[in-house]
Amino acid sequence: MRLSRYFLPVLRDVPAEAQTPSHQLMLRAGLIRQNAAGIYSWLPLGKRVLSKIEQIVREEQERAGAIEILMPTIQSADLWRESGRYDAYGKEMLRITDRHDRELLYGPTNEEMVTDIVRSSVKSYKQLPLNLFHIQWKFRDEIRPRFGIMRGREFLMKDAYSFDLTSEASRLSYYRMFCAYLRTFKRLGLTAIPVRADTGPIGGDLSHEFIVLAETGESAVFCDGRLLELPPPEGALDSPDDLEAEVERHTSYYAATDEMHEPERFTAEVPTDHQMTARGIEVGHIFHFGTKYSEPMSASVTGPDGRETMLQMGSYGIGVSRLVGAAIEAGHDEKGIVWPLEIAPFQVAVVSLRPGDAEVETACEAAYDQLQSAGVDTLYDDTGERPGAKFATLELIGIPVLIVVGPKGLAKGVVEIRQRKTGDTEELGLEAAVARVRELIGA
Ligand code: ATP
Ligand code: MG
Repeated sequence: MRLSRYFLPVLRDVPAEAQTPSHQLMLRAGLIRQNAAGIYSWLPLGKRVLSKIEQIVREEQERAGAIEILMPTIQSADLWRESGRYDAYGKEMLRITDRHDRELLYGPTNEEMVTDIVRSSVKSYKQLPLNLFHIQWKFRDEIRPRFGIMRGREFLMKDAYSFDLTSEASRLSYYRMFCAYLRTFKRLGLTAIPVRADTGPIGGDLSHEFIVLAETGESAVFCDGRLLELPPPEGALDSPDDLEAEVERHTSYYAATDEMHEPERFTAEVPTDHQMTARGIEVGHIFHFGTKYSEPMSASVTGPDGRETMLQMGSYGIGVSRLVGAAIEAGHDEKGIVWPLEIAPFQVAVVSLRPGDAEVETACEAAYDQLQSAGVDTLYDDTGERPGAKFATLELIGIPVLIVVGPKGLAKGVVEIRQRKTGDTEELGLEAAVARVRELIGA
């Protein structure tokens, strides 16, 4: 992408309405624009990050055996009356009436709708297990939308729903998602710890939240610091024993948010030098709730014994749009955003220090072409801005690696490579620089 033709509305000043680093930086770097309280447009740079996160989430869901569908944002109130949640959900639900006076709502979650889809076509235990997911916008009329897209009213969520014949099988589906979540957050370049959680309005008997540690997080977190060092689950995870062992490994250390914290247990169970108190952001939440929805909605299959059996269910959410903010909270400095490589909007920027200079232009075009054909997301800063302003913008938006091309360097036969995270620089010939950059970003 040529920056001269791109839409990147950066702000030089810190917007007064934004208090947290991620909210300030998302506005300053031109990732989002607020349209109404808790409702945002995603500008080109923000959309790129959002899509990259979405894709990694999708790949890990599919790897764990979940199948993608897409359900609508608007739902019928009748479905929610069947489960009994229409009245229970309260003011967070945005209720809509259409021209025929039919009651609709903008979905805050999809347990009812997916149960309706499954009950209409899954009749035999032979069609199980089944795990369906979608990545779709949700609306919750939060009483205090804040911190930008972190607590928005409209937000993008990945939600998956598992269906099994028995409670044991259903628990394994839960474990499979638990492991998929750890893999997902790791691939996003984030450390997320699982904590036991309250089930809230979704209900159920087993639930974990996944928390990214960051100073500005809304929850207080108490945990055994060794949990942060554990590598994510590896391998196929097909056998029940492997799944159980992985979940056991990641839940054996103490970890709780303020809601579930037990101070006596914490001090008794965790050696003093491993006791960690921090703040964190909830980026995922998984629930196992058995027949809570299948029972009232009569979602059953014929079991191997010929008897009608209620489906055992779980649901699994990831805050896709919140993750953009969480990644910034976990990675920024005084100059701007420091993206994990995996989700950076562009991995590399080629920076021309003298646009219009034939030699500089030829070198920039060559580097840009080579990187683009190698599949590297590259931004080419071909604008007429002063070098200082260019670097300030590229640091603000957090491009991980720069190739800086100027007349002085070219006279010596070199260009400069700059890394955003470490500030490291090196000078190499153009060909060697392109090869080195590809090595740095693993392309
Ligand atoms: P919270 O406790 O933060 O209000 P929740 O427990 O109500 O969230 P869930 O129903 O568990 O949310 O939704 C799954 C995921 O969706 C959450 O883990 C979170 O990452 C994300 N999410 C929930 N509410 C919002 C919101 N208002 N804005 C952005 N993301 C959200
Ligand atoms: Mg939650």
